[in-house]
Amino acid sequence: MPLDPAPGLTAPRLGGAAREGLCTDCGVSRMGDGKACGRACQFIRPDYPALERAAHGRTADPTRGEEGFFGPYLAMQRARLAPAAEGAQWTGITTALAARLLETGAVDAVLTVAPDPEDRWKPMPVIVTDPEALAQCRGMRMGYAPVVALAEPARAAGHRRIAMVGIPCQVYALRALPDTGASP
Ligand code: SF4
Repeated sequence: MPLDPAPGLTAPRLGGAAREGLCTDCGVSRMGDGKACGRACQFIRPDYPALERAAHGRTADPTRGEEGFFGPYLAMQRARLAPAAEGAQWTGITTALAARLLETGAVDAVLTVAPDPEDRWKPMPVIVTDPEALAQCRGMRMGYAPVVALAEPARAAGHRRIAMVGIPCQVYALRALPDTGASP
């Protein structure tokens, strides 16, 4: 039975396992296509220019601002939520932005992590559909979490516009697997 710790926040049981070797358990190895890691992993055979062109229409320009470090961008902002949200790692601006995506209907699900009920420092991949439930996802957790694998149960649940809060290797994998329907 999948965990269902709160309305609008579900934690589907994810099967499979991480791959041996240099693997951050992003979740791709736990998805249906067992060969997907070969084309989705930034550690196995990365192709940043191709994915940058697909996502941004161009490759990073190392002479433009910080693109040599961060890749293509339209604008780079430094921001904080004021006042800071209770329980946030810094101020809670990331979960606030994700909540706004749900509130405005820009997406119908957010893939992210919440604290594991038995160990608050352990990340638990969750699908969030209620903006208020994102408050439970505030704060820092240490450890790998196969968030990308959530794309499959999210699509099976009928979600088609999906956002993901993830780390860079998860964002890379998601861009390499456009059929997931999720956007980092
Ligand atoms: S794609 Fe993800 S699951 Fe597959 S090897 Fe790379 S980090 Fe591990």
